[in-house]
Amino acid sequence: MTETTPPRQLPVRLAPYADELLSSWIGRHASFYAVPPLVMLQHCLPEASSLRATDLHLSGDQEIRLARVFATEPAIVRRMTFGNVVQSSHRLLAAMPAQYCTNCSPGHTAPILRSQLLGWRITCPLCGNQLRDAGGRELPSPFRQYYGAALRGEKLLDDEAERGVRTWTSPAEIARLLLMRRVIWPLPREHELWRYRVLGAIIPDLDDVVAAEHENLPTPARPILPLHLRPALLAGVAIVERAGPEMLRMLRGHMMGDNKVRFSDAAENMIARAAKLRASRQMQLI
Ligand SMILES: [Zn+2]
Repeated sequence: MTETTPPRQLPVRLAPYADELLSSWIGRHASFYAVPPLVMLQHCLPEASSLRATDLHLSGDQEIRLARVFATEPAIVRRMTFGNVVQSSHRLLAAMPAQYCTNCSPGHTAPILRSQLLGWRITCPLCGNQLRDAGGRELPSPFRQYYGAALRGEKLLDDEAERGVRTWTSPAEIARLLLMRRVIWPLPREHELWRYRVLGAIIPDLDDVVAAEHENLPTPARPILPLHLRPALLAGVAIVERAGPEMLRMLRGHMMGDNKVRFSDAAENMIARAAKLRASRQMQLI
């Protein structure tokens, strides 16, 4: 095949499931035609390097070419990807399915729905049901008392990621800051330092839960918590968002050293951007 001969429509096309991820749909075609998934992808887009990259970003031209091969519309192909997700929320996209909905997921392993990779969800975006973790367990969350705030946090993160809507700041950036390490006094033994995160200053049960479960929380670079612990982070985001910039300044007091400098820089940037946004909105009202 040369670049001047675009791939033809596949003779047999499988209908996508509601909310199916593009890589999953391509993978099911690969199984059907008994070729590796990357071969199927490169049959459609010879320049494509990976299915993950295709889920994250497609050019308009690539959407058109894929749509032609699968006899569908470019807009439908686009909706199967994370092309709409704002860059600041990309770190909240899991690499593997992290959860599923017993109502909407046709299977545990395949097909994979787009919602199974959204690291900020505790409820299904299609039906509103509570999600189950990828292992199918329905672990009770130790943070049930924060459920109302967690749902607000989920909506804040969802509005930003899926629709680019922010309030005074970026909820995804708040989530990142809340997973930074904090210090407690008296200083714990060195091998326990990892347990203490900024989030624990807002959700006091967190330190004990993490200690009891012997489960380290993820880093700020990839702030996707296990599903049953996720309500704590979502609630933390909602609480900081509602309290406003001063709460970020207060949280700085729980840190020291380089971490404190990094936290302060990020927080002051967020506060400055919020002030600028407020000023420009006021100007529009004059
Ligand atoms: Zn559902």
